[in-house]
Amino acid sequence: MPRIPQFLSSAATALVLAGCATNPATGGRMLSLVSEGQEVQMGQQAREQVQAQMGLYEDEALQAYVDSVGQALAAVSERPDLPWSFAIVDDPVINAFALPGGPVYLARGIMAYFNSEAEMASVLGHEIGHITARHAVEAISRQQLAQLGFVAGMVAVPELRPFGDVLGGGLGLLFLKYGRDDESQSDLLGHRYMTRLGYDPEAAVEMFQILERQRQASGSGIPEWQSSHPDPGNRVEAARERVQADGNPGGIVRREEYLRRIDGLVVGPDPREGYFRDDRFIHPEMRFRLDFPSGWQRQNTPMVVQAMSPEQDAMVELTIVPDKTPAQAAGEFWNIEGLQRLGSSNQTVNGLPAVLGRFRVVNQQGAALEGLVMFVEHRSQTFRVLGYTTGQRAGQYSPVFERTLGSFAPEPDSSLLNVEPKRVDVVEVPSSMTVETFNQRYPSTVELDDVLMLNGWSAGQQLSAGTLAKRVVGSGGPR
Ligand SMILES: [Zn+2]
Repeated sequence: MPRIPQFLSSAATALVLAGCATNPATGGRMLSLVSEGQEVQMGQQAREQVQAQMGLYEDEALQAYVDSVGQALAAVSERPDLPWSFAIVDDPVINAFALPGGPVYLARGIMAYFNSEAEMASVLGHEIGHITARHAVEAISRQQLAQLGFVAGMVAVPELRPFGDVLGGGLGLLFLKYGRDDESQSDLLGHRYMTRLGYDPEAAVEMFQILERQRQASGSGIPEWQSSHPDPGNRVEAARERVQADGNPGGIVRREEYLRRIDGLVVGPDPREGYFRDDRFIHPEMRFRLDFPSGWQRQNTPMVVQAMSPEQDAMVELTIVPDKTPAQAAGEFWNIEGLQRLGSSNQTVNGLPAVLGRFRVVNQQGAALEGLVMFVEHRSQTFRVLGYTTGQRAGQYSPVFERTLGSFAPEPDSSLLNVEPKRVDVVEVPSSMTVETFNQRYPSTVELDDVLMLNGWSAGQQLSAGTLAKRVVGSGGPR
């Protein structure tokens, strides 16, 4: 939270029947609804939205490195002339994804788990495979045909979502789901590309093991690698068989080079982008706070901070309205078609100039929604805080919304504003020791299990002198 709110329009609106075509990577026939020109255009539009909504990780050297490895792999693929691009999105999850016609993204979270350039190449190769085999196009076509469009990755409340669409405040997270056959095919293509460049394909086996281990360890419901790239069943085995079938073991690994490059990488949520302290949301860079209702399910993304009631019948959202005063932003809000103003007034909220109002809107399903909105100016920026619920519950939630809106305030406490993210710290092990001893001598701010997972180690493993090893430093919150 928050960069520039931008409403996600469907990039696939230009869908035209193009008939049957030959799959460029597999040579097989495929039912294609999209020409290559449309595929590229779709991907470029989605790329802008991904970068605006998720944001890129701020580290030019690391971005350039990822792009150079990706470009080399793409150059030996079946579609070298696509407008390929490779970048890291500023997202702590362990994931990677491809957009149609060229753009490939690694989430910041997966960068911490790679232990060599070859491992990164195996994932980049896999994503390139989704593009060369046109899986992304097919996935979008399928979703478009099913009228799902880009699935909103946010908390979905069926009766509230249409309202979010009306206001353009809801986050549409691009989240494609591939089939298991697509996954097997991409694994195969990724193997092809990395071995063409001389990388050790064993790295793919290690990477799939890490992802499998991570899946077993995580109980979270966030869309990560496993949900967007379902395991075809015998992923690790199949990768191992491919390595054996090559009969030419070894190749480029670049372990040290990779680890040196990720020294200092941010891991986990970055508190500088806003964090929760109990129910209070604090944004250290924008220097404000907002108290969310207690016990609500919360989400902080670059676009919006939002919370949903436990009964899933009410929402609170915080966004930025760029380049507008509160009066201008309110004027635009009241002009939303179908929205009814039930009253508004200029007020001062905790010393800040604000416009507050009450509204009612009927969504496409004919259901009435009611809520409170506030446009408040802080440090030359206008923030919109919005609470809404169904018409019948408006009375019940009104005091909750009033409390939330009224809690927006400047945050003066420097101890809460000075926050530091957790970061990878790469250490050269000075002498032979076990991983447990390493963890005692070079303590981390995460659990031993996480250190083992990050390094791909098992318990009791012996490290030799001179090995590079990852630990995690930094509190991840106020200093
Ligand atoms: Zn995949």
